[in-house]
This record gives sequence, structure tokens and C-alpha cells, in this order.
Amino acid sequence: MKPHLLDLNLDELEARLAEWGEPRYRAEQIARWVLREGATTFEVMTNLPAALRTRLSEEFALTTPPILATRAADDGSTTKVLLDLGNGEAIEAVRMDYDPDPSEGAATNEETPSAARTTVCVSTQAGCAMACIFCATGQQGFTRNLTPAEIVAQVLHFSRERRVTNVVFMGMGEPLANYEGMIRAIRWLTDPRGLNMRQRGITVSTVGLTRPIERLTQEQLQIGLTISLHAPDDELRRHLIPTAGGVTIDALLEAGANYQRTTGRRVTYAYALLEGVNDTPEQARALAARLRGKPVHVNLIPYNPTAGDDLRRPGRDRVRAFRQELLEAGVNATVRIERGVEIAAACGQLRTDVANTAPLAPLEVSAPS
Ligand code: SAH
Repeated sequence: MKPHLLDLNLDELEARLAEWGEPRYRAEQIARWVLREGATTFEVMTNLPAALRTRLSEEFALTTPPILATRAADDGSTTKVLLDLGNGEAIEAVRMDYDPDPSEGAATNEETPSAARTTVCVSTQAGCAMACIFCATGQQGFTRNLTPAEIVAQVLHFSRERRVTNVVFMGMGEPLANYEGMIRAIRWLTDPRGLNMRQRGITVSTVGLTRPIERLTQEQLQIGLTISLHAPDDELRRHLIPTAGGVTIDALLEAGANYQRTTGRRVTYAYALLEGVNDTPEQARALAARLRGKPVHVNLIPYNPTAGDDLRRPGRDRVRAFRQELLEAGVNATVRIERGVEIAAACGQLRTDVANTAPLAPLEVSAPS
């Protein structure tokens, strides 16, 4: 099979073109077609010599995964697509449009909440090996890593329609367990010769793999980092995230502090609230005690229902009380605004089962609530 053009990075592409006796700037021209113009064939690249276009199409693929289904919710401001990866595998990506409303939060560390933005939530793996007990993807098991091209394709699918301002690596899979795929995708998205997105518009969410966090710390990127904490103590955390193994909360807080010190970017700790499991006032105080005095941000995610577990989402009052405990200890905390629950597009609800995709097929737009 031909390699996909976006599985190379720009330097590798330049090197290949140089071998063919082509000038350096060709790589940039090609990247512009693919990333900014959304080209899916080399034929359309009319500023390239015909012979080069032919050679490129002989050597590289430029295909994008076919769309199996699209669903919309939240009055059309949330859209989920199911992309076909072949071999019966599929992944989901979600687009969320946010109004220029300063009171609306989002699944991002973005610090300019008053501007309108479009956030795309991308998947990095088909399935996931981390097995978080509250996450639909985790319950599905792991199939394979996505290639850089497959990750970038999710953004390009949406950026053909409108400008994407933010990309969050919070879809299916554990991004730091597919480090190479993730980092190459981020380079294509943020390189001025690529999609030229702001680095600060990108956020990676991790279950908490300390070695890859250290590696990411050294990349000299200004991207946001979210670490999924979900518990105030190691024992409960290991229950919720069976693969957390020997990674302690102390080790995670240290890795986060290091990231923050080196990059200057504030780290967010995600905390999924599960009624009666990790949302009691005592647990809030225990969490607050661990985070007190640290310049961190806590993003609370009231549990989104997934099939096949008996977990419950706490009511508003419990969520408010949990947040209040953190605030009183001087720990910055917000509640993530939920999007796409009715189309199973919210945090932890992404799961693909290609055999079961039939009900997804029609495009549905829910009535405004
Ligand atoms: N693998 C990455 C991305 C996961 S999805 C990570 O672990 O961070 C993004 C966030 O949604 C994570 O914090 C994840 O723990 C959380 N999440 C998963 N299932 C959820 C559910 N059912 N309800 C609420 N949040 C959930």
C-alpha cells in the first residue's frame, strides 16, 4: 500500500521532493493544498508541474476515511461523524460550535472565552486499552492506533466547512499511548506551512501516563494539557482506571507541575463526577487538600451515561457543592458544559460498533431545547 502523504512530516516530504530534484518550496505548496484547500487528489494541484502530480499520485495516497454517518444535536451546534477506517473499524469525531458568549465554558483550556470558536474533538485510537470503568470507549477494548493522516483527517473533515479554532485530543483512545501519531498530527495542525492553527488552541487530555507527559513537556509546544484525575486517592483511582497501575496521584501532580513550569501553560485536572463513588463532600475536601496552593485548574465532568454500567450522574446540587469545596480551598474549578449527550457524542460516550451503525445513518437535528 502507498503511504499516506500526511504520515510523512514536512521535513520528510521536503527530503523526498529533493531526491526527485524538486525545489524545497514544493513541499509547502503541496501542504497548502492538502491542509488549507482540503485537496483529496494531486490532480487539483494546478500550480505543480503535471509530471510531479503524476509522480506524487504514484507514490502517495491522499485519501480520507469515508463518512459512515453524521448526527447533529444542540440545535445544530454539535455534530458527530463516524469515519470508516476499513476492516470493520470506525472512529468518531465531534465538532462543537461556541457562541461568543463569555459565560459558556468548553472542553478546552482556551483563555479567550468571549470569542466565537469551533472546537473539534478527535480520536487517536480505535478503541482504548485503558479500560476506565465509566467510559464507553474503555469498555470497548483496543483495536489499533490511528495514523497521523487519520487524526488530521478528522480536523480536515470539519475545516472544509468552517475554520476550526480549537482541537481537543479527547475523543476515543489515549493520545499519549499513540505518541507518534498524536505529535505528528499536532505538527501538521500547528505548522505555519500546515493548517497554521494556534498551538494554544490545541489541548491533549491524558489518562495520566507520566513518561509521555515528560516527553511532551520537552516538545517546546504551547499546547494545553489535561490530566484525568477522577479520584482524591490512589486506591479509588485504581478502581476507576484499572490500568493506572503504579502511577500515583503524587507522580501525576509532579508531572503536571513540571509541564506547567516548562511550558508556562496551566494544567487542567479532569474529574468525572460519579454519584456516590467520588463526589462526596469528604472526597471534595480531600481533593482540595491535595491541590491547595497549586496553580491548577479542575474541570468537573458530571458523568455522561454509557451503556452497560450502573453509574449515575450526580444532581446539580451535588455538583455545585463539590465545586464549592474546591473554590473555598482556593482551587480553581469549573463544570464542563455538556454537549451532544442525546447523540452519544459527549465525554466518554464515544464508542463504535460498525455492525450497529444503522440507527446512526439519518442526519438528525434535534429541536432547540
Ligand atoms: N484518554 C484521554 C481522553 C478521554 S475522554 C483521557 O483519559 O483523558 C476525555 C475525558 O472524558 C477524560 O477525562 C475522561 O476520563 C472523561 N470521561 C470518560 N468517560 C466519561 C463519562 N462517561 N462521563 C464523563 N466523563 C467521562
